[in-house]
Amino acid sequence: MIDLRSDTVTQPSAAMREAMAQAPVGDDVYGEDPTVNRLEEMAAALLEKEAALFVPSGVMANQLSIRVHTQPGDEVIVESTSHIIRYEGGSASSLSQVQLCCVPGDRGLLSPDQVAAAIRPSDVHNPSTTLLCLEQTHNSGGGSVYPLAKIEGLTGLAQEHGLTLHLDGARLFNATVATGVAAAEYAKGFDTICFCLSKGLGAPVGSLIGSTRWRIAKLRRLRKMFGGAMRQAGILAAAGVYALEHNIPRLKEDHDNAKHLALLLQQIPTVFVDPDKVETNIVVFEVVRPGRSTQELLHCFKQAGVLLNSVGERMFRAVTHLDVSAQDIEEAGKILSNVLAA
Ligand SMILES: *Cc1c(COP(=O)(O)O)cnc(C)c1O
Repeated sequence: MIDLRSDTVTQPSAAMREAMAQAPVGDDVYGEDPTVNRLEEMAAALLEKEAALFVPSGVMANQLSIRVHTQPGDEVIVESTSHIIRYEGGSASSLSQVQLCCVPGDRGLLSPDQVAAAIRPSDVHNPSTTLLCLEQTHNSGGGSVYPLAKIEGLTGLAQEHGLTLHLDGARLFNATVATGVAAAEYAKGFDTICFCLSKGLGAPVGSLIGSTRWRIAKLRRLRKMFGGAMRQAGILAAAGVYALEHNIPRLKEDHDNAKHLALLLQQIPTVFVDPDKVETNIVVFEVVRPGRSTQELLHCFKQAGVLLNSVGERMFRAVTHLDVSAQDIEEAGKILSNVLAA
């Protein structure tokens, strides 16, 4: 089975499991897990932030960040198709009691003019706009990369208006590998920035949040409150250390595979896809004149050996990752072509 549903399905490699088995551990709630401490120091250095915090998931990283930056009743500007609005169970309204102002972007990317228009004037009637959240790369935008200049425009604007800034960098390293811009460059204007270890980096669990020392101290308290403080978490952190040391440059293979898949899909008469828009490891494509429902097609693809996700009516998403080879991509191209010709 060629599993292209998500880069979250990756299995820890034998070498990663070995690193996990050998990791020195301690009680991280007491700050005594040397492997967690090492991972947090590595992340802080990579992001050029004062400190970092290891958390169980990307959702928790986003939700802790929203909580640390806001008061109940505040308004948070997010992109309409962002992970925070679509895939986090409504947690911002539940856990932080904020309301989300959704601004539709171009493949997930916002412009400074759009954000400026969404910031509420200071008036007793209005909620206070206090936080702007961006996403890098943009998942629902098809793995689109926020260009650095665009980010700088947005962070500059937000700072002018006194907003705090959070970057959901679940796939931050896909952006750095695609553009050659360092993670720390992207991180510069943000008060908090997080990235996932459990996607293309291939670790089983975990995300990191980078910020100032005092904010990380607050986030550490909130992590406890949210139930995300772990004990001998060095077992998991070791996988993260391994991922940061070994699995970043190889993301280029995933990007090459995604581009190649898009070119194969483009040759299928009933598929619409724009390979130029495939910037990282996500391919979004449309099946025109399908003759079968989206669910039926997913089922047919699966029967033939390819797992995909749908992201809308007749819209499909393929995500490449470290458990998918160039050969698998050739094979997947053939399988999808055969299923759609049938
Ligand atoms: C995967 C992802 C997350 C984190 O989701 P988890 O389910 O906690 O792993 C956050 N933001 C984006 C953009 C993501 O793709």
